[in-house]
Amino acid sequence: MKTIGILGGMSWESSAEYYRIINQAVRDQLGGFHSADVLLYSLDFHEVEQLQHQGRWEEAAQLLNQGALRLERGGAECFILATNTMHKLVEPMLNGVSIPFVHIVDPTAHAIRSAGINRVGLLGTRYTMEGEFYAGRLRDHFELSVRIPDEAGRSLVHDCIYAELVMGTIREASRLAFRRVIEQLVAEGAQGIILGCTEIMLLIQQEHSPVPVFDTTRLHALAAVDMALDGA
Ligand code: GLU
Repeated sequence: MKTIGILGGMSWESSAEYYRIINQAVRDQLGGFHSADVLLYSLDFHEVEQLQHQGRWEEAAQLLNQGALRLERGGAECFILATNTMHKLVEPMLNGVSIPFVHIVDPTAHAIRSAGINRVGLLGTRYTMEGEFYAGRLRDHFELSVRIPDEAGRSLVHDCIYAELVMGTIREASRLAFRRVIEQLVAEGAQGIILGCTEIMLLIQQEHSPVPVFDTTRLHALAAVDMALDGA
């Protein structure tokens, strides 16, 4: 079993879920008392959020690159970046890093394709929904067509992520509002919904959607386990 590096803290509410899912999957696969071999480097989200908010992406990329290099130096043999949004900075983050890495879009897209779906709705931060780095990869590498909510829907989802979900606040009113956004995407043709922010799974589960949901936290964590157990 390889040591899995998790570059997390974005936010720690979802890093804790990654940790739980990864350990449960290793126990399920290896049995007995087995648990995952993990190095977690958890950033101070205050700093990350400020850099995002102020558009200081180069500094954010440096922070991620230093984090990835620290994980590698610390002995991680593979690693994941436990946030959708910061995959915007994958290229500079990987500068000088030689351990294998799983991009969060890839296991998500494989699950969507395995479900026989090709039109999918995307929920996430404004950076993720509006940026080319995410929908572009889904389209260009996996031939998926991606719909995002309208402006009002995007604001609602983005604001809820930063005001509530990353703080661990779960409100029934927000769940209802998300359900309406999902229903709108389905009415526009989405056959599935990507929970494209690692905290959305705290609020929305399969029972809240009329079409299949694709939980990036779970899919990404399980892909990390596959990488760690490959050849184990
Ligand atoms: N965890 C979130 C995501 O998956 C948002 C927090 C962040 O800005 O990294 O996009």
